[in-house]
Amino acid sequence: MSRSCFPDAPRAVSPDPAADRQWTRRALAILEQEAMRSADTHLLRLDLPAFPGVTMYLKDEAAHPTGSLKHRLARSLFLYALCNGRLREGQVVVDASSGSTAISEAWFARQLGLPFVAVMPACTSPRKIADVQALGGACDLVDEPSQVHARAAWHASRGACHLDQFNLAERATDWRGNNNIAESILHQMTREPYPEPAWIVCGAGTGGTSATIGRYLRYRGLSTQLCVAEPAGGAFAHGWRLRDPEARASQPSLIEGIGRPRVEPGFVFDVVDHVIEVEDEQSIAAAWLLEELLGRRYGGSSGTNFIACLRLAETLRDRGLGGSIVTLLCDRGSRYEQTLFDAGWLRARGIDPEPGQRALARYVATPGLRMV
Ligand SMILES: *Cc1c(COP(=O)(O)O)cnc(C)c1O
Repeated sequence: MSRSCFPDAPRAVSPDPAADRQWTRRALAILEQEAMRSADTHLLRLDLPAFPGVTMYLKDEAAHPTGSLKHRLARSLFLYALCNGRLREGQVVVDASSGSTAISEAWFARQLGLPFVAVMPACTSPRKIADVQALGGACDLVDEPSQVHARAAWHASRGACHLDQFNLAERATDWRGNNNIAESILHQMTREPYPEPAWIVCGAGTGGTSATIGRYLRYRGLSTQLCVAEPAGGAFAHGWRLRDPEARASQPSLIEGIGRPRVEPGFVFDVVDHVIEVEDEQSIAAAWLLEELLGRRYGGSSGTNFIACLRLAETLRDRGLGGSIVTLLCDRGSRYEQTLFDAGWLRARGIDPEPGQRALARYVATPGLRMV
């Protein structure tokens, strides 16, 4: 898409501050109405016969109207931009995204009547690109994934409001509560046999989810430990070990939304207790298995999370311990029908999920498996 295709942004300084405040008030009311109409996402329970003392819980973030956990983040980023006086009536909104965030941001931009541009790598799943466009957003595709930040900054230099998920996710989310994902999970656990989870497992894309959960666990004085599930060789894994903000991924990953090439500004290492690295092949096999277990498809990062949960469950079992392990189903699998769920696409990349699936079968291929 050529540069001139993007809508022109208005002046950065408004001539009428009172009208600005009036519009901000209206915009906040619209976001509050949207929240009022929404329901919380379900916490699914999974009892695996291989781990009699361990119960797993899967937070179904794919159930948001925009299909992923980024629905929460997009709302927070718009609130943050509005309350910082950075977003005005008619202004173009832009962000760099691997897709999920763009879809959720396009949804909120449309609620507020604002034009939206998503800067995405050209290799993003075609389905995600179509979803952004269906919500009225424009997609600016860049060939080199590491260039998305610079390209979003270029749009901002022309006057667009940069929601800037990678810089702001960690601070735009209210970690003390306000129905953030951690508060929601722990509230939903209150009537369960082990209401205080032994582990919560999540991925790191912007790092916003892990920062929010890690902070909230401390704020509430819980002993629950936080584990980040990371594609093998990802930047978070390398950075976390040495607390190195300059760390880079040592290999690319096919798992969208996580496995970042660099340490993002929102990665908060100190609240994370453990990192488990998962090969893409295993994440994909686990995503296929989740469909068998839950009757519905979820994306690759949900598979990465699930593998990490199985490894933690094994450790608990081997130590003779019981407890609950909670993780997230991050997005809808329908976004990956032409990629992770297409055997031909996988073969072309040298990936065969079958051996991984056979290896996973020992956890689940027994009568007594129960999804509640
Ligand atoms: C963003 C994302 C994640 C990681 O969440 P963060 O809060 O950004 O760290 C995991 N899975 C998917 C599908 C995502 O889009």
